[in-house]
Amino acid sequence: MQSLRGRLTSLVIVAIFGAVTIVTASSIGREINQYGEDKYSELKASANAYATAISEYVNDGDREETARALSAIANAPSIAYVKVDTVGGAPFAEFGGVPSTPASDSIIAAPFAPVSNFIPALFRQTSSITVPIIRDGEIVGQLTLNAHSAALYDRIGVLIYDALVAAVFAAVIGFLIALKMQRSITDPIMDLAKIMSDVRETGDFSRRAQAKENDETGQLVESFNNMLDQLQERDFKLHAHQKNLQAIVERRTRELQSAKEIAETANLAKSDFLATMSHEIRTPMNGMMVMAELLSKAHLAPRQKRYADVIAKSGQSLLAIINDILDFSKIEAGRLDLENIPVRPVEIIDDIVSLFWERATSKGLDLAAYVAPNVPEVIEGDPVRINQILSNLVNNALKFTNEGHVTVAARRVAGSQDTCVIEFSVTDSGVGIEHDQQTAIFEAFSQADQSTTRKFGGTGLGLAISRRLVEAMGGAIDLKSQRGKGSKFFFSFPTCVLKTAEAPRRSLERKRAIVAIDGAATSKMLVSHLQETGISAQITDANGEIGAGIAYTDIIFASPEFLNALARKIKGDPNQWIPTRICIGELGDSAPDRLLEKGIAEDLLIAPLSRREVMQQVERIFDGKLRGKAALSNAGQEPSSFRRFNGECVLAADDSIVNREVVKEALGRLNLQATLVADGREALKVFQQKKFDLVLMDCSMPEMDGFEATREIRSFEKKAGVANVPIIALTAHVAGKDGAWRDAGMNDYLTKPFSIEALSNAIGSHLHPNKQTSTTTATEPIAPRRAPAKANDDNEASPQRASKAASARKQNSEPSFDRSVLEALLDMQTGNTNLPVKALTLFQQYSRDAMIRLAKSAKSQDPDEIKSAAHALKSMSLNVGAMRLAKTCSVIEERASGDASLTELSSLIKQASKNYQIALSKLPELIEQFSMRAA
Ligand code: ADP
Repeated sequence: MQSLRGRLTSLVIVAIFGAVTIVTASSIGREINQYGEDKYSELKASANAYATAISEYVNDGDREETARALSAIANAPSIAYVKVDTVGGAPFAEFGGVPSTPASDSIIAAPFAPVSNFIPALFRQTSSITVPIIRDGEIVGQLTLNAHSAALYDRIGVLIYDALVAAVFAAVIGFLIALKMQRSITDPIMDLAKIMSDVRETGDFSRRAQAKENDETGQLVESFNNMLDQLQERDFKLHAHQKNLQAIVERRTRELQSAKEIAETANLAKSDFLATMSHEIRTPMNGMMVMAELLSKAHLAPRQKRYADVIAKSGQSLLAIINDILDFSKIEAGRLDLENIPVRPVEIIDDIVSLFWERATSKGLDLAAYVAPNVPEVIEGDPVRINQILSNLVNNALKFTNEGHVTVAARRVAGSQDTCVIEFSVTDSGVGIEHDQQTAIFEAFSQADQSTTRKFGGTGLGLAISRRLVEAMGGAIDLKSQRGKGSKFFFSFPTCVLKTAEAPRRSLERKRAIVAIDGAATSKMLVSHLQETGISAQITDANGEIGAGIAYTDIIFASPEFLNALARKIKGDPNQWIPTRICIGELGDSAPDRLLEKGIAEDLLIAPLSRREVMQQVERIFDGKLRGKAALSNAGQEPSSFRRFNGECVLAADDSIVNREVVKEALGRLNLQATLVADGREALKVFQQKKFDLVLMDCSMPEMDGFEATREIRSFEKKAGVANVPIIALTAHVAGKDGAWRDAGMNDYLTKPFSIEALSNAIGSHLHPNKQTSTTTATEPIAPRRAPAKANDDNEASPQRASKAASARKQNSEPSFDRSVLEALLDMQTGNTNLPVKALTLFQQYSRDAMIRLAKSAKSQDPDEIKSAAHALKSMSLNVGAMRLAKTCSVIEERASGDASLTELSSLIKQASKNYQIALSKLPELIEQFSMRAA
């Protein structure tokens, strides 16, 4: 803006200055012209007068007189030069120093063009005029005068001076005018500009510029103000609209939010209801099913047996549906907890195949498992969920396949050394699915076609649950299928490699093998596994003729029928080459046993074949350690590792009903008579009334603990003068460490959870010490995937605060359930009692009270009560393998004995309650799985 003002000032000054200069220059020109005209007239008059004066002399030809007269003329101050020429132009006389030039006539020639003559006149510094000399009316010669122009300079000087004064005056005037103009033009513009910039910066459209004059700037200001008016109005309208919109959005958001909350609450209530209902239904259902199954296996009249079968089957279908609904509602309610614990893919696949083997063979289907050699031995994941997905896929595959095969496979599809993507797949040769139905079947309650439900049943939830489970693992599930040709369902997820698989020993390179068994999928899988070891294997028709190719075969893996045919062929031809013969038999079929007895088969593999068994068989062939008769299918079972006793009486004291049930079953299995009591006082009472051969004493019990009860028993024995009855401590602590059991007078200890073998060894070593094979007194607990006792040790060794975080982490790294503990319970059960199911059901019923007691103990703020409640729950949990819960309880117990603050204990109890909920949520599934196994 400053420059506008400066420019305006300069413009005004320059304009005025220019105008003054032009006026001055023009007046100088006029002056000179005037001066020229005046001088010319004056000079002309003088010249004429001089010409008249000298005309006589010139006429007379008197040069002397003429010259004299000329000198007199030249004496005039303004005359610089004077000359006379004859008429003919010849010089006659002259005087003065400035010669005449032709240009000197210019003034005469152009008297009215003074400016054009001004410059040469200025330079010549003289003016010249030539006039005729007339005598008696006749021209007798001509006179030329050169006059000085010095006066012109003076004149010009004066003019320039005047002009300069005028210019300066004009500049001052101009400046003053500019100042005035500034006020009237630039100030309003500058004000306007400032307001514009303010409005731009502040966005305040209420500002207005002031119009000082009613001129153009005033109009400009007014236009600007009008524009601001409009802007302000528009702004106001916008603001009002925005406010309105905001109110609408807020209202809608509130409505949506409340609708969402209502929907969520309803959904949660629905899921809760479903979860609770299915849980409530499952418990009695379970009892019904087990009973119905037992009933159907009992000796019944055919009609009643059929009724029982129908009840058992319907129960199973109903339970499957309830499980699906429970899972689905759990996933929907966002209560899906995935575990991240070590998983062995090979084991998972073998388990699945074993589980469905019966069903597959009864339908005439070949069910095979294949685990690619690149699959790690141990990965990280949730074994129960992977199992669940695979079970669902295999179940579907078997359901929708009428002939042919179903293959369950695992392979590694990507990854590095520490991480990888594992793909599990289930391929069948069944009915297949139309292309346009393939995406829909992963939606809940969706089936490929409506006839499916009528024909095969099902809820249409299995795949929806599987998809959600796989997605929760960070993976994806998909399928490839062709109507009438079969389907392949596959899912993969990223995981950590905890242990890579050992490469198989390529021991039998260049050996040739044939596989002659029924079942294309199993044959293919066997060939693949054999090829991994370097054997060149081929499939041959198990029911066809034995060809000449046998002569080039080193090993035969064949069905009993094929081996029989081979035996006949060999018999008829003593020169026939005899390859190594491995029989592939089926469980319950006695034919393989006969072949082994007769030496027709040298070893036996029982279908379903697992990778591990095939590899072990190859090792045996390589090492020349074929088992022969020792491989008989009934001998193939693990030899019983525990002894049976002779009905000796054992008193067992344990406050946990789950533990009492476990002990009762285990003692029954060992052929011991059990008397069970719930606390130390009762134990003492019963002990005093009846003779026992051995006592199993839980250490931590209400009323009277195991240590005190033992001391009382010992003092009773002393008083009665009878020999000490062996007392074995049952403890959830690592009791061996502090030897408290020994101090109390006990003979041994057994850490929970214990295996039947450990129990049998411990009891055996005290009832019949001579027959004891193992000299170990302190019996090891069975080895769960992560030994709880060891974890306990760690905590005992580091009670410091720093270890707390680590210990919390450890608690959560425990599996929520250790299946090996439940498997061990299977060993302990007597007869048809399904001990794992029974123990889990009892845990389901009684652990709640134990948990409530623990929760209440936090409020009581009594560390002893906290300790005792935690111990009770721990002990119960250990027996069913609820390791994570047991671990947290163990930490609580330990911290309650130490220096833990109540805040710390409450937070640990909260953690226990969380783990308890997780354990509880897994129970139905486990109960079902173990029910199915028993069935
Ligand atoms: P359900 O089996 O309980 O009906 P799923 O979600 O497991 O529910 O399966 C949904 C549908 O997908 C089935 O009803 C069937 O139509 C189709 N389906 C699943 N697996 C197969 C398979 N292996 N072969 C053919 N159809 C299949």
